[in-house]
Amino acid sequence: MSHLFKPPMATESLTTWRDLVRIGPDDDPFWLKVRTTQLDFLSRYFPIIAAVGIGNAAVVLAALADRPPVPVLLGWFLTIFGMILYFARRAIVEALSGRKTVATRRFHIQVLLEILPVGIAWGLLFGTMLPRLSDPQLALVVGMTLVAVGTTAYATAIFPLAALMLSGPIALGSAVGLLASDWPYSDLILIILMAFLLVAVRGNVLTTFAFLARLKAQDRLVQQEEVVRLLLKEFDSNGNEWLYEFGPDGCLTFVTSRFGDAIRRPSEEVLGRFWLDFLTAHESRETLKAIARQAQPFRDLVVQSEVEGEIRWWSLSGTPKFDADGRLVGYRGVGSDVTEKLRAAERIAELATFDTLTGLVNRRIIHTAIADGLQGPTGVALLFVDLDRFKAVNDSLGHAAGDRLLAEVATRLRATVGEAGQIGRLGGDEFAVVLRSGHAEAAHRLGESLIAELCRPFQIGETEVRIGASIGLAIGPEDGADVEALMRAADLALYEVKGKGRGTVRRFDREMHARAEARRALELDLRVALERNQIHMVYQPIVDALDERVVGFEALMRWRHPEHGDVPPGVFIPLAEETGLIVALGRFALREATRAAAPWPRHIKVSVNLSPLQFDDDQLVEDVATALRLSGIAPERLELELTESVFLDQRRSTADKLAALRALGCGFALDDFGTGYSSLGYLQKIAFNRIKIDRSFVRSAVEEGSESSAIIQAIVALADRLGMETTAEGAETRAEFEAMRRLGCAQIQGYYFGRPMPAEDAARYLRRSEPLIAFDPGAFTDALVDVTAVAGESFSPGREGGSLLLVSPAEDPASDEEATRQLQAAAAPSTGPALRAPRRIRRG
Ligand code: C2E
Ligand code: CA
Ligand code: CA
Repeated sequence: MSHLFKPPMATESLTTWRDLVRIGPDDDPFWLKVRTTQLDFLSRYFPIIAAVGIGNAAVVLAALADRPPVPVLLGWFLTIFGMILYFARRAIVEALSGRKTVATRRFHIQVLLEILPVGIAWGLLFGTMLPRLSDPQLALVVGMTLVAVGTTAYATAIFPLAALMLSGPIALGSAVGLLASDWPYSDLILIILMAFLLVAVRGNVLTTFAFLARLKAQDRLVQQEEVVRLLLKEFDSNGNEWLYEFGPDGCLTFVTSRFGDAIRRPSEEVLGRFWLDFLTAHESRETLKAIARQAQPFRDLVVQSEVEGEIRWWSLSGTPKFDADGRLVGYRGVGSDVTEKLRAAERIAELATFDTLTGLVNRRIIHTAIADGLQGPTGVALLFVDLDRFKAVNDSLGHAAGDRLLAEVATRLRATVGEAGQIGRLGGDEFAVVLRSGHAEAAHRLGESLIAELCRPFQIGETEVRIGASIGLAIGPEDGADVEALMRAADLALYEVKGKGRGTVRRFDREMHARAEARRALELDLRVALERNQIHMVYQPIVDALDERVVGFEALMRWRHPEHGDVPPGVFIPLAEETGLIVALGRFALREATRAAAPWPRHIKVSVNLSPLQFDDDQLVEDVATALRLSGIAPERLELELTESVFLDQRRSTADKLAALRALGCGFALDDFGTGYSSLGYLQKIAFNRIKIDRSFVRSAVEEGSESSAIIQAIVALADRLGMETTAEGAETRAEFEAMRRLGCAQIQGYYFGRPMPAEDAARYLRRSEPLIAFDPGAFTDALVDVTAVAGESFSPGREGGSLLLVSPAEDPASDEEATRQLQAAAAPSTGPALRAPRRIRRG
C-alpha cells in the first residue's frame, strides 16, 4: 500500500506518514519552511478557489432557490462568501504592506480553522439537501461538488490538513445525503464520489510526500553547503593550499584567497584571467595543456611560476569537470606553493652529499667511491686519517676554533691529494681518502705526506695550533673485497696506529683481524670477570724520598683470566673504557682499596685511579662517599689519581663532580704528568695535592745529557709554588731513586721499593720494619723473571747495583730464611747452584 502513496524520493529522505499531517514546532526552520510553502501555495491558488467557490455557490443557490429551507441555503452561501472575503482581505493587506504573516504554528492552525467552516458549510448542504433534490439538480450539485473538490485538491496539493478540513466534511455530508436519498443511483454516485475522493487524496499524499522530500533534501543541501563553506574558510585560513576552478575557456572562475597570497595580489583580481598565464615556464604550460586536452586528472604536478620577479614552484592537482553530455567544462582542484619545501629538500640532498663544515663529501659518497674503486681494474686505496690532539684544541680553544681547524685540515688534505682521489669527512676528526689506484707504496707515501702536512702548525685566529695525524691504510681488494670489509680493515689499521704511538701510517695486515677478534673475545670475558671474582686489587708502596719510609700505596687492578692468566691493565683498562665496564670496575676498585686501607696505620694513604670515563657516571660521587663510609677511613687518606684527559671534558657536570669529590675531603693526584696534552692551566683549575711525574721522565733522567732532569726540576719548582708535592713514578734502581731525590721529588714509587702486592702482603709489609734480603747476583739476575713468576707477588724484586733485592714480606729473621729457601728452590731449575746464600740487610 505504502508504495502506492509514497514516491521513491520520499522513501529515501525518510519522510514519515506522520509528517503529512504535522504542523511542526515553531523553532524548527524546516517546519517553518514547510508551513510557509504550504500557505504560499494556498494563497497562490486562492483566486481560483475563490472564483470556483463563488461560482459554484451561486449556481447551486440559483438551482436550489426553490427548495426550502431557504435560510440554510442562504446561511451556507454567506458562510462561503464571508470566508472568501476574509481570505481575500488578508491577501490584499499582505500584498499592500509587503509584509507576510509569519507561518507560525498558531497562524497555521488559525488558517485551518478558517477553512473548516467552508468545508462544514458544503458538507451540511449536501447532507441536508441531497435527499430532496430532483435528478437534474442532483446531477448539477454532484458535478459542481466534483469541481470544487478537484479545485481544492489542487490548491491544497501539498497541504493535506487543509484538504482534510475542506474535503472531510464535504465527503461526510455527501455520504450522509446520498445514503438518505432514495434516488436509485445514489449508491453508485456515492461510490464514484468516494473513488474520486480517494484519487484526490492519493494525489495529495503523493505530492505532499514529494514536496516534503524535496524540502528535506534542500535542507540537507543547505546544511552541507554550510559545512563546506566552513571547511573552505578553515582551509583558506589555516592551510597554505588554495582552491581554484576554471571554465571551458581556461579562465579562472573561482579561487580562494590563498591564491592571492601566492601571487601577492588580491585573489578577486585574477578571476576571469587565463589560468596558464600564471605559469611562466614553457614546459609547465605545455604539460598542463596536454593534460587538459585529454581531460585527464592530475596530481601534485610541480609547475614553475614567477611572482614579482621571483621564481616560485607550485604543486597543482586538478579534476576535470564535465557537463551532463560529458563535455569538458573546466577543471577544479587545489594548489600550493612548494618553493620552500623544494628548497629544503634540495638542501637536504646537498647535506646528504657534502659535509657543510669542510665541503668534503660525506660517508655515503665515500662508500660509493670505494665501491667504484673496487670494481675498477686498478683497485683502490683507502686511508683513514685521524687527527691527534684535536679534542684538546676543540676543548681548550672552543668549538668555533675546532671547526676552523677542521676546515683548514680539509684544505690541506685537498691540496695534498689533488686529483688522485676523493676526500671525505666521516665525522668528528676522522677523514677518509679514497685513491683510484691500489698501489700500496704510492698510497703509503701519500699518507706520509698527509701526516707531514698536518703536523705543520695551523694558525687559528691569534693562536698557533699544533696537531698531528695517524693513518690507517687498506688496499682493495686485497685487504677487503667489499666496502664494508675494506673500511673495517682501514679502521683496524688506524686503531693499531693509535695504540702504538700515533703519527704514522700503518697498513692493514691479517693479524690485525686476529687481534681484533681476540680483543672482542677478551671484551666478552671482561664483562663477566667481576662477577666471577677474576678481578682483584694489588698495592704498590709509595715511599718518602728522604727517609724511604712508606707513606702510602697505589691500588692497581689485576685481572686473572682463567685461560690467559694475568691480563695487563694496559690491555683491559682501555677495553673497559671502550665498553663502559670501567664504571663497575672503578666502583669495585674504590670499595676494595678503601677496605684494604682500613686496618693500615692512620698516616698511610691509599691512591685509587679514576678513569675520565667514570665521570660520565652520575653515581661517581656517591660511589666514593659510599666507599669511604663502608670502610670508615678518613677522607684525607684517600687520594684519587686523575689524568689530564679528565679536563678535556669541559662539561659542567664533570666540574661539578670534581668539586663534590673535593668537598668530600679526598685528595687528588695528577697522574702521568708530562705525557698528555700538557697545559699547566689544569693545575690551577683544581687544587691537586700531588703531581705524579711519569716514569718516562724518570727513566731518561739518569741518562747523560737528557732534558728530563731539567723538566723534572721545573715541574718540582712549579708544584712547590702551587703548594703541591711531587711523586716520581717507576724508580727501578737505586740510581733512579737517588736521581729523583736529588731533583727534589718528595715521594718515590717504583719496583725498587716494591712491586704491586696483594692486600695481605701490603699489610704485612707495613707491620714489619722493612727488612730486605739482598742476593748476590751471578746467574740469578737473569733468573729474576722466573723467580718472580714463582714467588709471585709475595716478593717485590728490585735491583741495586749488581745485586738483586727482594723485599720479603716476612716479619722476622726466621721467616726470612724460610722465604729464602723457598726462593732458592723456585729459582733452582734455572739458576742451579749459582744462587748463593742471601745476605739480609735492614734499611732506615
Ligand atoms: P699508572 O696509574 O701510571 O700506574 C702505575 C703503573 O706503573 C702500574 O702499572 C705499575 O705497576 C707500574 N709501575 C710501578 N713501578 C714501576 C717500575 O719501577 N717500573 C715499571 N716498568 N713499571 C712500574 P700497571 O699496574 O700495569 O697499571 C697500568 C695502568 O693501568 C695504570 O697506570 C693505570 O693507568 C691503569 N690502571 C691500573 N689499575 C687501575 C684502576 O684500578 N683503575 C684505573 N682507572 N686505571 C687503572
Ligand atoms: Ca696511577
Ligand atoms: Ca702513572
